[in-house]
Amino acid sequence: MICQGCGASYDSEFKFCPHCGRARPESPELLIRIQEPKWEICEIELESRTVILGGERYWFEAVVFGPTGRYTAERTAEWRGYPGRAEVKKYLDPMIELLLAAGWEPLQAGQGGWNYRFRRPASVEAKE
Ligand SMILES: [Zn+2]
Repeated sequence: MICQGCGASYDSEFKFCPHCGRARPESPELLIRIQEPKWEICEIELESRTVILGGERYWFEAVVFGPTGRYTAERTAEWRGYPGRAEVKKYLDPMIELLLAAGWEPLQAGQGGWNYRFRRPASVEAKE
């Protein structure tokens, strides 16, 4: 540990420089954590509703959880029947393209083939 006050070196366990008494700065790790932006998390969910006499309708929704609460970032059109590869390609892939274009950074592709997660600094949307 090099003192920023007097330039002497001392044990980094010390809270103060034993030579001049200057307080040891917070560890770089802690400083990085303080400066790290708040993140919004976006998750793609499979939604469904029952249409009377029409059966089950499905759609994908990109739901965001952020400091300002929960909102829908993107929503696909609806289709009939549980999604397979064809629906994933037709509806999910274009939505992922839109999210990436909007600055969302992919975190993981989850189970089920559509439970993707993204993150984005909260300031992108929250600044007014
Ligand atoms: Zn010192």
